[in-house]
Amino acid sequence: MTETVDSTRGAGLLPAELKKDFPLLQRTVRGGRPLVYLDSGATAQKPAAVLDAEREFYERHNAAVHRGAHLLAEEATDAFEGARATIATFVGAVPGEIVFTKNATEALNLVAYSMSNAAMAGPEAARFRLGPGDEIVVTEMEHHANLVPWQQLCLRTGATLRWFGLTDDGRLDLSNADELINERTRLVALTHQSNVLGTVTPVEEIAARAHAVGALVAVDAAQSVPHMPVDVTALGADFIAFSGHKMLGPTGVGVLWGRRELLEAMPPFITGGSMIEVVRMDATTFLPPPQRFEAGSPNVAQVVGLGAACDYLSELGMDRVHAHEEILLGYALERLGEIPGVRLVGPGTVESRGGAVSFTVDGIHPHDVGQVLDELGVEVRVGQHCAAPICRRYGIPATTRASLYVYNTLADVDALADGVRHAQKFFGTA
Ligand code: PLP
Repeated sequence: MTETVDSTRGAGLLPAELKKDFPLLQRTVRGGRPLVYLDSGATAQKPAAVLDAEREFYERHNAAVHRGAHLLAEEATDAFEGARATIATFVGAVPGEIVFTKNATEALNLVAYSMSNAAMAGPEAARFRLGPGDEIVVTEMEHHANLVPWQQLCLRTGATLRWFGLTDDGRLDLSNADELINERTRLVALTHQSNVLGTVTPVEEIAARAHAVGALVAVDAAQSVPHMPVDVTALGADFIAFSGHKMLGPTGVGVLWGRRELLEAMPPFITGGSMIEVVRMDATTFLPPPQRFEAGSPNVAQVVGLGAACDYLSELGMDRVHAHEEILLGYALERLGEIPGVRLVGPGTVESRGGAVSFTVDGIHPHDVGQVLDELGVEVRVGQHCAAPICRRYGIPATTRASLYVYNTLADVDALADGVRHAQKFFGTA
């Protein structure tokens, strides 16, 4: 097994030396084996530049933001708002449309709870009000973070949840799109890239259809923003949600992007300090967005770290990041496809597909595959990946999932394929 990238597959690949930027990837596991990290879909490792940015913030500038008149408060606020501007540029947005949350889950819940709070708000919030007879459309490939909040919103408002099904090869079944998205539809919520199947969905097409009937569009971009160039305006959505920790940034920070005019009309979700204008004992007015949606003390160091992650990814170039993953993905599909008994769950080609590769191995439970791989130093995820309806759709209990990112190499894919063959020998199914 080589430790360097095969130069004949070099076009568009990021250098194997990139791993050196990531302190954690230098460690060994399980009796001194080199670490092969193939679980970036769950959370990505962090480059030193991100760790340094967080540390530098705490060592030099730490203070509460947007309050206080002292120098540190000024520096901390500049660092926080500077990171907001960097993150906005990263996704083609303006800073006022970037709302910081804890993660993508909270960003999606923010929209769902703001929509229920519209029942008590003024006429400007009419667009967000739901009731019996209204419909929300999701898909069967959603992460629970983009399914359960909408189920709950339906329970709170009396609206009905409907969904796109899946084709046998792991794509969205769009055959009934015109019937599903109709004059009763008030919101379409869908993933941009499935964390299990890798499928990239036709968001632009679905958003155009949704807007034609006056519905809002919320996109779960937790698995796309880290892996491909995403321009929020080109995507055509009204809201997009993503998490810092999946894009080389810290945990504890996520982003909700929303169209400015919608954020301005949307009532708040969490209330308290930092989001108010005038507070009297009997009533309160709220600040404009994004502050209206950022109650309490924010995760300042984490936001600064996410800004550094965006700088790091921009330096690599998101086109190259995507091309790199596509080459690794093609190789992974080829290597796993050669192994008898391995069944891919998701599209079998790289077209409109990202680097989450889920599979089953005949005769071996995914958890056992994961355990054998772990003993070899290959870290993958096993289970239902917080998207249980996908497993139900394909009649499987769980999958083993390898997910690729900037620091992975062809050698990592070799280690995965060799490990799966090893598991088959170990369990006597080869
Ligand atoms: N959406 C997708 C597609 C995901 O893969 C994940 C996390 O795995 C989430 C949403 C939720 O992200 P977080 O747990 O950071 O909120």
